[in-house]
Amino acid sequence: MTTTRAATLGKFSTRQKFVVGNWKMYTNTLEASQLAGAIVAGMGIEDAVTVIVCPPFPYLALVGEILKNSCVLLGAQNLYPQNEGAFTGEVSPVMIRDLGCKYVILGHSERRHKLGELDAFINQKVLIALSEGLNVILCVGETLDQRKDNQTQKVVECQLTEGLIGVSPETLTHLSVAYEPVWAIGNQANHATAEQAQDAHAIIRHKFGQLFGEQAAQALIIQYGGSINPQNAAAFFSKQGVDGVLIGGDSLKADQFLAIVKAGINSSKIK
Ligand code: PEP
Repeated sequence: MTTTRAATLGKFSTRQKFVVGNWKMYTNTLEASQLAGAIVAGMGIEDAVTVIVCPPFPYLALVGEILKNSCVLLGAQNLYPQNEGAFTGEVSPVMIRDLGCKYVILGHSERRHKLGELDAFINQKVLIALSEGLNVILCVGETLDQRKDNQTQKVVECQLTEGLIGVSPETLTHLSVAYEPVWAIGNQANHATAEQAQDAHAIIRHKFGQLFGEQAAQALIIQYGGSINPQNAAAFFSKQGVDGVLIGGDSLKADQFLAIVKAGINSSKIK
């Protein structure tokens, strides 16, 4: 094995596993505080896995208070690509950072497909989030029709390329990607297999390497999202190149979420 290859593999194996909970437009004040409290209590001081929860905007401050002094990090589900101004109803990167957010999910398929967000707009959000010191989780993924039409590679490569226009190499350590096939979200009966996720992650890592170089590609955290639950999580974590999971439905149940975190911790002990 050459030194370069060994160094690359060494870096590969040091990527920490990520578990991200996307609470979407769920919970109320009581539920958000109970859920956050139960996650903090269940996590203890475990830090083998990076755990992030992304509550709805109105509960960020409340949940942020509960997460204080824990190893669970706070994230937002979106932002508007301006720091302030006459943008009624919008929330800026500065505001979410002020509330303690370290992460922000951008380009989620529900925003792309239900709210009509396009790559150029998502790109503006990525750029401002990075420039404001937030860590970005950029979601990409194909629809069922696109997969059936063998367009998966083209779609994720395009979303990646367009979403990352103008990103400076110095900020790449603050960027991760979530592969979220649209057809697998909220579809426990027919989620992607771990092999399908691994194949898509390889496409994403390859494209990222073309855009930013091999070293950056090997350091990139790529998560899978789409109906992850405690029964299937270990299979995804076991795949090389699958660096974590983004969870919707099961992130709203503390015991399920913690069981998935446990699967991530176990997999990082094996590797
Ligand atoms: C998501 O919201 O990003 C997601 C993956 O949802 P679910 O786990 O419910 O499929």
